[in-house]
Amino acid sequence: MSMFKDIPVDVGVIYEGERIRRNDMQVELGGPTVKEKFELAKVRPMDAIEDGKVTIIGPDIKDMKEGDAYPLGILVEAAGSTLDSQLEGVIERRIHGYLNYIEGFMHLNQRYDIWIRLGKKSFQKGLNSFEYIGKVLYKLFKSELPIIEKVQITFITDPDKVKELYPVAMNDYETRDAKARGLKDEEVDKFYGCVLCQSFAPSHVCVITPQRYSNCGAISWFDGRASAQIDPKGPVFAIERGELLNAEKGEFAGVNEEVKKRTLGEVNQVWLYTAFGHPHTSCGCFEAVAFYIPEVDGFGVVHRSFKGVTVNGLPFSTLADSTAGGRQIDGFHGMSIEYMRSKKFLAADDGWNRVVWLPKEVKERVKDFIPADIVDKIATEEDVQNIDALKAFLKEKNHPVVARWTEAVAVEEVAPAEAQAEEGAMMPVATAAALPIMAGGFKIILKDAKIYAKKVIIRSMKDEKKS
Ligand code: SF4
Repeated sequence: MSMFKDIPVDVGVIYEGERIRRNDMQVELGGPTVKEKFELAKVRPMDAIEDGKVTIIGPDIKDMKEGDAYPLGILVEAAGSTLDSQLEGVIERRIHGYLNYIEGFMHLNQRYDIWIRLGKKSFQKGLNSFEYIGKVLYKLFKSELPIIEKVQITFITDPDKVKELYPVAMNDYETRDAKARGLKDEEVDKFYGCVLCQSFAPSHVCVITPQRYSNCGAISWFDGRASAQIDPKGPVFAIERGELLNAEKGEFAGVNEEVKKRTLGEVNQVWLYTAFGHPHTSCGCFEAVAFYIPEVDGFGVVHRSFKGVTVNGLPFSTLADSTAGGRQIDGFHGMSIEYMRSKKFLAADDGWNRVVWLPKEVKERVKDFIPADIVDKIATEEDVQNIDALKAFLKEKNHPVVARWTEAVAVEEVAPAEAQAEEGAMMPVATAAALPIMAGGFKIILKDAKIYAKKVIIRSMKDEKKS
């Protein structure tokens, strides 16, 4: 794009979805090893903003040691005659999309959980300063969102400063989320959809309702409405709710129709309030995963920054791999923490009565929204560390799932042996819900394809041209 001729690397939508592996990275900003990191958008008065100004507080990229991880705060301050603070969430979520347009620059997650990697090749090409990153953000904000008349961007890498501003950002997120609570799904005739993550998960559409926050936890129903209004051709759009097909599971005719259209028929039915059957798809930047624990017929929930292993012995990363990719997988459900504060939280699966394990940190965050009679019956990593201990804990506390156990045993006993044999026989080498192939400007999607192969060769097109 000519608008980026002063940037040492390419900038464009083709770089969205680009992954940078640890061995290929120059530096990491935020991410799992850094406790404090954030990105925040603030709307300010016109005279408080110096349009185009980029400020760096702390070491710049060129001063960072190769292979190391650093704290980072990104502050985008915008002004416009019709811009108000209700749009802060919308502006903030665009940081993710815009930064991923930069060649060799990967941005994952959102808010207090950002995880950025700069690739070695782009660094060697000259992308060695936040000045360039700021310029890209500035140009994209101004060209894509004309409602923004002035914008200035600050990158904070000084650890003390990031630490100081981190609670301020957390407080801002909470204030924003609290404002969006109260409205019910039944009270609106439109929901909102987001396809920003389709670059990573082509069959994923977030359906954002008043009572089901986006998976990333960064877009409320109000943010969705504002975003669709100011940028109707952008990644966030209105969904006519349509006929209510199933109140308990949360199935709406308009949602099914829109999701089918946006996933090219890959997903054609969505149940919003359950993790079974036709659950909401999960992209990759969900804040947390609800995972079914068959041994106790209940759910565990783990958030992205949980260190160590969950009660079933698996860390967040393994559970996230089983969940992500725009698939609908029984018992693995990507979601936001804010959804846990909603009355519709896994409502069709018995909601909080089915939750058996949570990291202490998450429990503290959502404590006020857990029914009083259940809160002490949910174990944390401090109470139990394995399934046997969890069973004993639930029994001792008389958790509501215990009543389900007799039924579950009866079902297990009558399960036919053929069912297990068939499951094994059907096991493919690799299964992809939608396998996209790019060729000659066309995208070919193999739907429900099961591919058996002795060997898979992945060759880069650049190498092919050279040879
Ligand atoms: S998680 Fe959902 S709402 Fe958030 S950016 Fe991705 S698609 Fe959009």
